[in-house]
Amino acid sequence: MQKSLSERDLAVIWHPYTQMQTAPAPIGIVRGEGALLFDENGNSYIDATSSWWVNIHGHSHPHITAKLAAQASLLHHCIFAGYTHEPAVSLAERLLPVLPGDQQKLFYSDNGSTAVEVALKMTIQYWKNKGVSKSRILAFKDAYHGDTFGAMSVSGRSVFTRAFDDLLFDVIFLDLPSKDNINALKAQIDMIADEAGAFIFEPLVLGSGGMVMYEAALLNELLAHCRERNILLIADEIMTGFGRTGTNFAMDQVATPPDIVCLSKGLTGGTIAMGVTTCTNEIYNAFLSADKLKTLFHGHSYTANPLTCAIALASLDLFLDPSCAANRQRINAKHRAFAVELAYHPEVKNVRSLGTILAFEIVTGQADSYTNELAGFLHTFFRERRVMLRPLGNTLYVLPPYCITDAQLDEVYGSIGEMLEVYARQWA
Ligand SMILES: *Cc1c(COP(=O)(O)O)cnc(C)c1O
Repeated sequence: MQKSLSERDLAVIWHPYTQMQTAPAPIGIVRGEGALLFDENGNSYIDATSSWWVNIHGHSHPHITAKLAAQASLLHHCIFAGYTHEPAVSLAERLLPVLPGDQQKLFYSDNGSTAVEVALKMTIQYWKNKGVSKSRILAFKDAYHGDTFGAMSVSGRSVFTRAFDDLLFDVIFLDLPSKDNINALKAQIDMIADEAGAFIFEPLVLGSGGMVMYEAALLNELLAHCRERNILLIADEIMTGFGRTGTNFAMDQVATPPDIVCLSKGLTGGTIAMGVTTCTNEIYNAFLSADKLKTLFHGHSYTANPLTCAIALASLDLFLDPSCAANRQRINAKHRAFAVELAYHPEVKNVRSLGTILAFEIVTGQADSYTNELAGFLHTFFRERRVMLRPLGNTLYVLPPYCITDAQLDEVYGSIGEMLEVYARQWA
């Protein structure tokens, strides 16, 4: 008999974030349509986490497919130093004006982590080029900015970074702002303001940190304080960008504009990886010089790949269509209604929602090993119900493509309700 995709995979593939010795065999996916993914046995799964937060318009969207095919007949790729092409220029022309603040220049790279690397290099070299010694970076304690070394350095220290901790560069970590600590945070910033060149942050929601939400007004206070002290502001909108938090970009809810914005994930609607780092002319101009050493020496072989840019343009068409915002509002209203129901469950705490994100914690009150067992239980439960949910520790969240139907959302909520009943009986 022919081997399944899942069996062939086990012989040759090493999966991300996966303990290969104990992980169940992966599900072989052959096709996607809207919010659904279909496996090799014909089962369909609701993609309730947008395939790691990237998919905003649904799988295999016909408009994206058509634009990809059109570009494929013209140009697949070409070098991006000394040469340029229509999709790269058009995307920058259309994207910059819709971004928060006064974003004037766009730098292409390969994914979210590289967008962060570029942002860090821009700020560090910005100060070097100006002859100012301000090379330290501020970040939130539980932040996540990617898995490459620079991006890991500005992310919270955790089990994900443990093996590399002694090789990561030194960062000044801040607690998330609250009414109680905002003055202490400002004092902490004052102490190191002379050395601090930039503050990188995930606006409004720490994604991988557990969908932790915090107030726009408090973030704004912190950012305004940094700006007064000449600390550049890097908004990592890789997860929050393209409508996730209600507004087009999370920074649209914050009065102090960023100097730099990092984008990826939703940028291409969840099709091909691409990263973008944008900046103000103030930053860009500090690299203009007859002195070659002031150049930003960074690039990737596939920088500004034309196929990927064409896809990002197609995704932007869909994103800027009024029906997209209407869908996001519809999902937000349904999330809020379900959040009210969830709050009655004794097994649930910290129910929260923002834009198209709904998150809560499952009460465990037990040690880490228990949380691991819980992860196994949740994984199996939702897999059997054909709903793709992937908890972060004991945090469960729903973050669907904007095209998900009301019926599909109800099915996701229903499976969560059912899970909580089983959990209450067997575990709590
Ligand atoms: C996912 C993510 C990244 C990293 O992006 P990759 O494309 O996975 O490298 C960086 N920052 C945030 C906020 C993210 O959610």
